[in-house]
Amino acid sequence: MKAFDYVEPSTLAEAVAALAKGGGRERIVALAGGQDLLSEMQDHLVEPGTVVSLNRIDGLAHVRSDAGGLSVGARASLAEVARDEGVRTGWTALAEAAASVGSPQIRSQATVGGNLCQRPRCIYYRNEHALCLKKGGQECFAEGGLNHANAILGGGPSFIVHPSDLAPALVALDATVRITGPEGGRVEVLEGLFTLPSEGEVTRETSLEPGELITSVEVPAPAAGVRSTYLKFQERASFDFALSSVALALGVVEGRINHARICLGGVAPVPWRCERTEQLLVGEAPGEELFARAALDALEEAEPLEHNGYKVPLTQGLLRKALRSLT
Ligand SMILES: Cc1cc2nc3c(=O)[nH]c(=O)nc-3n(C[C@H](O)[C@H](O)[C@H](O)COP(=O)(O)OP(=O)(O)OC[C@H]3O[C@@H](n4cnc5c(N)ncnc54)[C@H](O)[C@@H]3O)c2cc1C
Repeated sequence: MKAFDYVEPSTLAEAVAALAKGGGRERIVALAGGQDLLSEMQDHLVEPGTVVSLNRIDGLAHVRSDAGGLSVGARASLAEVARDEGVRTGWTALAEAAASVGSPQIRSQATVGGNLCQRPRCIYYRNEHALCLKKGGQECFAEGGLNHANAILGGGPSFIVHPSDLAPALVALDATVRITGPEGGRVEVLEGLFTLPSEGEVTRETSLEPGELITSVEVPAPAAGVRSTYLKFQERASFDFALSSVALALGVVEGRINHARICLGGVAPVPWRCERTEQLLVGEAPGEELFARAALDALEEAEPLEHNGYKVPLTQGLLRKALRSLT
């Protein structure tokens, strides 16, 4: 790891000011739990001149819920989110997603903000010797290479998948994020924070500007009768990223579905919302025939690469299982 300066501001304003001094995007970086950033630095994927720790700033680590909704500070740990009773009952998909991340040690250090802003796990991106598109190169090596874990939806020119488990759950729960930066504060719908490689800068996954920090995630209270779940398929039984996951929030009133949000993880460069499939479900009576149609619809645009065609039936199966479990 290259030598770097380390600063520990005690206020958000100081942190933003320190980050804003960065000329290039990765010269000055924020550090939260370090579960992603430190391995990126060890592997020479990022070589910052200055690391700005967020860990001494007060007021960023809360997990607070009431009848109006849920507010989670960017520095709240995944372990706290997973065990919070209010989250487990009101926003179950989020608790399940947080509980599915890595190991207990990782969850105790990893934060919500860091989880949403972590970088891709594609083997080519993580290999310091492979100058892929994500690192300013000319080619996505996964497209014609080892791509069993890569995107089947929304891919191109880069075929990474978004690695966060929290992101699909929070999108399905209609979350917004509070952001603070050199220009002040703003609130953004979480879904809009993530950018496809074909739309934004291919070397980034979010629309955050240099110096901007996520300060909290806000989730509305679920409407009456709406429940949620997060199902994840990983290659090894624990300690692994999603090869596919489904976050589902669903409401059923008088035998008919009246609310549906579906967001897929592990299959696209962004958390992949299935709005058309949601519309297909609303107004219908739950049942196996409907679930099968929804599963086909959600994956209709899938374009698998050479080694990841298995993700199509896998994700369809996860979605059917999630629908069954909430009805
Ligand atoms: C062995 C292993 C297994 C893992 N398994 C999973 C898994 O199954 N699912 C999963 O989702 N993740 C997994 N992870 C990744 C890890 O859990 C997440 O990356 C973690 O949540 C990152 O949080 P952090 O606080 O440690 O972030 P850091 O490593 O400190 O930061 C990560 C990135 O986010 C930026 N950042 C941090 N906080 C903010 C903020 N408030 N605003 C803006 N930018 C910010 C940093 O600058 C950095 O670029 C795994 C990691 C390891 C090492």
